[in-house]
Amino acid sequence: MGETDESCLFCKIVAGDIPAEIVAESEHTIAFRDINPQAPTHVLVIPRRHEPDIASLADAAPLEAAELLSMTRKIATDDGHDDYRLVFNNGAGAQQTVFHCHGHVVAGRDLTWPPG
Ligand code: 5GP
Ligand code: ZN
Repeated sequence: MGETDESCLFCKIVAGDIPAEIVAESEHTIAFRDINPQAPTHVLVIPRRHEPDIASLADAAPLEAAELLSMTRKIATDDGHDDYRLVFNNGAGAQQTVFHCHGHVVAGRDLTWPPG
């Protein structure tokens, strides 16, 4: 995988070519609100680098994966939530629809277990 993929929706958000409501940014990571929120807080946290999933990111750039994971707590607390769920859907069979690594930070309502 390369640094960017011109056909990738989330690479276009990273580049600023598609607008998004960005809530946090750092050197290698950005976070923006999901267009179809499933909870009062539903933020996607993504690497600027194009990698298909979190394991691929960790293999290619472990410090960038760590930066992404560290940002998740701030995303939740900035919205007033101490507790949150962090979900990575990996592969179409797990409902991944955008193949640029992204974690879903979900908070602000009762979260059941097991997830659906
Ligand atoms: P996945 O199903 O791949 O784990 O999650 C993809 C997420 O991206 C979905 O929750 C979907 O609502 C969100 N999404 C898809 N297109 C856009 C977009 O153009 N902007 C934003 N902010 N979110 C998007
Ligand atoms: Zn991408």
